[in-house]
Amino acid sequence: MAFNHFTIHAMEGQNMKLISSHYINGEFVESHGKETFDLINPSTQEVIGRVTLGDEEDTRRAIAAAKEAFKSYSKSAPEERAEYLQRLHDALIARAGEHAQALVQEYGGPSQMAQFLVQVAAEAILSAKNALNEVEFKKMVGRTEVSLQPVGIAGHITPWNANILYFFNKASAALAAGCTVVTKPSEMSALQTQLIMECVHEAKIPAGLINIVNGRGDVVGAEITRNRDVAKISFTGSTGVGKTIARDAAATLKRVTLELGGKSPHIILEDAELEQVIPFVLSSGFMNSGQACIAGTRVLVPESRADEIKAALKHAVDQHLKVGLPQDAGTAIGPMVSKIQYERVQGYINKGIAEGAEVVAGGPGHPAGLEGGNFVKPTLFANVTNDMAVAREEIFGPVLCLITYKTVQEAIAIANDTPYGLAGYVSGSDYDHAKRIADQIEAGTVSINAFNNNPAAPFGGFKQSGLGRENGVYGIQSYMEYKSIS
Ligand code: NAD
Repeated sequence: MAFNHFTIHAMEGQNMKLISSHYINGEFVESHGKETFDLINPSTQEVIGRVTLGDEEDTRRAIAAAKEAFKSYSKSAPEERAEYLQRLHDALIARAGEHAQALVQEYGGPSQMAQFLVQVAAEAILSAKNALNEVEFKKMVGRTEVSLQPVGIAGHITPWNANILYFFNKASAALAAGCTVVTKPSEMSALQTQLIMECVHEAKIPAGLINIVNGRGDVVGAEITRNRDVAKISFTGSTGVGKTIARDAAATLKRVTLELGGKSPHIILEDAELEQVIPFVLSSGFMNSGQACIAGTRVLVPESRADEIKAALKHAVDQHLKVGLPQDAGTAIGPMVSKIQYERVQGYINKGIAEGAEVVAGGPGHPAGLEGGNFVKPTLFANVTNDMAVAREEIFGPVLCLITYKTVQEAIAIANDTPYGLAGYVSGSDYDHAKRIADQIEAGTVSINAFNNNPAAPFGGFKQSGLGRENGVYGIQSYMEYKSIS
């Protein structure tokens, strides 16, 4: 690609990429900020890249570009917006393999998961495009014309664990609404972000509609949050940072969407079939190597079947859950994103043991033969009570807690006894019964017997898992406000 050499090049004699540009006003622009950050392959600890981090000046330039572009784009027709979304989708799909590879290399996403995330990102774009047909942009209420207006410039801040999905889901909803965008992705996702910038450029999205600044949260993220020209923030990340953003955004009364952490319950009902339960517990609990906000990490088991379910899960984790290099097709659990995250997960495994939980599978340390990367053993704890730290706090690694219950009412009470409310899972043979249980779980998304991604259905959390909803028409409306003319 003609523009690649301005922005990304391998350092001579080394397999290392240098990224020094942001994407502002339709161009790759050299960073004003000079601090750098090393990108480390979590499977090998090899430095695979170096990104130059933007500063407040880079951020203000991006916001100024978005502000200028908003003047005309906010008045664009839905058909024009749909055309840009289709082009974004096509540009993403054209390089789907490279995107998936970047996820594998940069955060150790298992390759099947990485390919799935790229697909889901593409579906999210089309979902926003299709939802444009459902948004009632204008209607009469008596003699008053009520119209939906884009709120202004949208500031997006995203995490490292599925950067591509969060980037495109947020950007698509904002563009569909008529907003222009400034995104700060995680500094740990710079290789993925570089590809995204190139896609936006290849899609020939008009200048200023999408701007992307690499940088630290407390510099670029903080400037986006503070800046009075930004009307809305959509943030995906940890609950702690989400609270800081909500507090700082209040100074200029920005609209805020927060997609935060979770500690989601999986209620296994008495009548559940083992053949259905075991794969569902593993896939929902260990998805993305356990580095998933919606992971079902508290597994609630009926006391009458505790031994049977514990033994079946132990067998499945020991025999069938492959920990290994993320690029290998059969790998279910790749490395943790960073050494810090490795240590954090180890800390929780040791804490669980100290609190009296029983290690059924896994435990502390590296899996044999994988000492060179941030690999942890997928760990199954039994004899967990819901007041233990391993049951209350988000670990963000492959650690599941089995908690027993006597009655369904007790299961629901335990499921809801958490500061979080992002997701929930129910396994049971009688669908109507399982649905009645799902109705009582305080969470934004509940899956019964299987995981199903629906990009048109609202996604978001109750309680400290967040504010607002994304996806489809719900996501688009979160970038708009009503206006009445009588
Ligand atoms: P994080 O909160 O550390 O960082 C997220 C983003 O916020 C990064 O881009 C970071 O640079 C930025 N940031 C940090 N401090 C900031 C500040 N003061 N002001 C503005 N921006 C700031 O999260 P992470 O470690 O990248 O991701 C993991 C977390 O994200 C987990 O808690 C996980 O549950 C959550 N998550 C939630 C969802 C969801 O949809 N609910 C999805 C994925 C991840």
